[in-house]
Amino acid sequence: MSAVRASRFVQAGAPRRISVSFEFFPPNTAEMELSLWGAIARLAPLSPNFVSVTYGAGGSTRERTHATVKRILAETMLTPAAHLTCVAATRGEVDAVIAAYAEAGVRHIVALRGDPPGGVGELYAPHPGGYRNAADLVAGIKRSADMEVSVSAYPEKHPDSPSVEADIDMLKAKVDAGATRAITQFFFENALYFRYLDRARASGIEIPIVPGMLPVQNFKTTKNFAARCGASVPDWLAERFDGLENDTATRKLIAAAVAAEQVLDLVDHGVTDFHFYTMNRADLVYAICHLLGLRPGAEYDASPRPHAATEGA
Ligand SMILES: Cc1cc2nc3c(=O)[nH]c(=O)nc-3n(C[C@H](O)[C@H](O)[C@H](O)COP(=O)(O)OP(=O)(O)OC[C@H]3O[C@@H](n4cnc5c(N)ncnc54)[C@H](O)[C@@H]3O)c2cc1C
Repeated sequence: MSAVRASRFVQAGAPRRISVSFEFFPPNTAEMELSLWGAIARLAPLSPNFVSVTYGAGGSTRERTHATVKRILAETMLTPAAHLTCVAATRGEVDAVIAAYAEAGVRHIVALRGDPPGGVGELYAPHPGGYRNAADLVAGIKRSADMEVSVSAYPEKHPDSPSVEADIDMLKAKVDAGATRAITQFFFENALYFRYLDRARASGIEIPIVPGMLPVQNFKTTKNFAARCGASVPDWLAERFDGLENDTATRKLIAAAVAAEQVLDLVDHGVTDFHFYTMNRADLVYAICHLLGLRPGAEYDASPRPHAATEGA
């Protein structure tokens, strides 16, 4: 009989430190506002390293992103990170957003180039008076504010990029400009992430490259989303959801099993930091975090704060 395998979370008697961050998008209806704040309330006690709020294409959510980040600062103990893109904006416009965040007390920006106005596939052209690309934006942020800056990374390369090498060169440029963390596009084959990590390390990139995890809340939506951002969806994943289109309960169980398999394999290979694309839904992410050993912190104050979640929704 083989010996019982020691818990993957215990190393020499000490629990392994798992750190998570959660990504949300700014709501645009009262109903979405409620579900966002419900998700934040459920996930906050897990004490994430930070929570990030996306910035709609071309700055379309500028005010809503700002309002959401400000509310996180005002009403929770969470550390927010504001996403910011430089596409279709002048330097002056982008700098004004950075200054407003700094003024509001935000200390972390996720700096991105953004998709061209016509969407993925259209040739990207920087705004004539704007930041040229994400590396240029990182440099601009570091020049003007005391901010931690995270950036994107693409284990399967960005769809615009001629090669993985070009992608890694871009990541290097962003690091040289001052980025201290990269968050990856989602992926379903962990081997892709580890191969990318090896290439980045071989190119002298030493910052944490945190895997971006997308729990499959809805397979069809995930597939469409993946097609737009150049992430592959393996056949085995499609097979697991096959025939469950009208069976929500089983779909949820399968989604949890798929996500568990992926994160636990990453843990087994030494990964301790995870960024979750929550899609403003908590249940699946909460369950995966529980599996990773995270528990609501005793120190977390769950008492209502000023402007409780239902107000202003
Ligand atoms: C973690 C994460 C968070 C994101 N958050 C948001 C968000 O909040 N809002 C939003 O709108 N989008 C977001 N995106 C998507 C992102 O804006 C798009 O993927 C965009 O097309 C690229 O921006 P970037 O900063 O990732 O690009 P970069 O890192 O600047 O570029 C990615 C790669 O594309 C190639 N490339 C870039 N420009 C060119 C060019 N002109 N010609 C040829 N190749 C080129 C380079 O090889 C480069 O490595 C996010 C992506 C990730 C991974």
